[in-house]
Amino acid sequence: MTNTAFGNDSNDEIRRERIAATIRADVRALAHYPVALAEGWIKLDAMENPYPLPDAARQALAVTLSSVPVNRYPDGDARALRSALRDSLNVDPRCGLMVGNGSDELIQIVSAAVAAPGTVVLAPEPTFVMYRRNAVIAHARYVGVPLNADFSLDVDAMLAAIEREHPALIWLAFPNNPTGNLFDIGDIERIITAAPGLVVIDEAYYAFAETSLLSRVLEFPNVVVVRTVSKIGLAGLRLGYLAGHPDWIDELEKIRPPYNVNSLTQAAVPVLLAYRDAFAEQAATIRRERTRVDAALASLPGVRTFATQANFVLARVPDATGWNQTLRNASILVKNLDGWHPLLAGCLRITVGTPTENDKLIATLRQAYAPRHGGARMNIEERA
Ligand code: PMP
Repeated sequence: MTNTAFGNDSNDEIRRERIAATIRADVRALAHYPVALAEGWIKLDAMENPYPLPDAARQALAVTLSSVPVNRYPDGDARALRSALRDSLNVDPRCGLMVGNGSDELIQIVSAAVAAPGTVVLAPEPTFVMYRRNAVIAHARYVGVPLNADFSLDVDAMLAAIEREHPALIWLAFPNNPTGNLFDIGDIERIITAAPGLVVIDEAYYAFAETSLLSRVLEFPNVVVVRTVSKIGLAGLRLGYLAGHPDWIDELEKIRPPYNVNSLTQAAVPVLLAYRDAFAEQAATIRRERTRVDAALASLPGVRTFATQANFVLARVPDATGWNQTLRNASILVKNLDGWHPLLAGCLRITVGTPTENDKLIATLRQAYAPRHGGARMNIEERA
């Protein structure tokens, strides 16, 4: 028996056996959700808002947070937080509103609420990967229906899949991640009408889109809307919310862990929502910069960008791996989606940063890939 830092060889063997016998095979087969370490990088990979909090908000936050009684559990119903969200987002007063530790947790809660062996969860693909992951973890069967090549919904294929699979749950990200587009509302309505179960509209990127379905949620008997504060500048607070008819929320609430949103977040968000004009201004700058980044990318040879209503641009480039490496060499992190899904072949997803960050992105790519004036002649001279 050899001792190691953590025990000995026989312990190692027993532990491996126990894990194999105890942890579900489908969980063991999962890969970890990759989160890049970002120290020192220009971070254009995770759809964060690149701007820090306004100074006044920072100071107001310091005062508020210093008196939060963290020795006590948070308000399990998050009353002050939910009421501040309602006020600032104009949620229909007849709607129920539920909060989550990020919308990630709400996705997990909805998945757990519907999933039973044999239950189907359906989503157009490519889309946010957590829909599939949470379905699998909750023992549901996940069915992905490919989008059209222009990333619009393939409504006929969706309707056929609904008829065939009777999904308990359908996810529609609006705008969609990683494609960035808004689906056609008429297409969405047809899917909602055909759906035998719940349809969740995920509006994580609402702040950058020209339209939303939040105000229409009660028009449909089988729809709820999920949102997050992550993309408007508060990703670190981990807060998502779900709006819908109180009857739906009432059931979902049974699965929510009682203290899922911590006291600091519950105290911080109402204070920060008072600065929503500043967040709205940041979002407007991001939308303007999106147009600039999109145009600059599209002007490079062989690049195609796709219409986006989110805070990122999806670009198909001649050599995604090479381009990704070029950007990494310049300390710029983007998401290489090549290989994720056949429709994403050659695609990079690039979050819109600050104007300075975007300048660096554009300059790096132009330097590497834009044809230079008289480039061919220069090459000949250089060789001589
Ligand atoms: N929905 C979509 C469509 C997303 O892209 C993301 C994050 N990338 C989330 C939900 C999760 O957001 P959060 O957990 O930060 O609220």
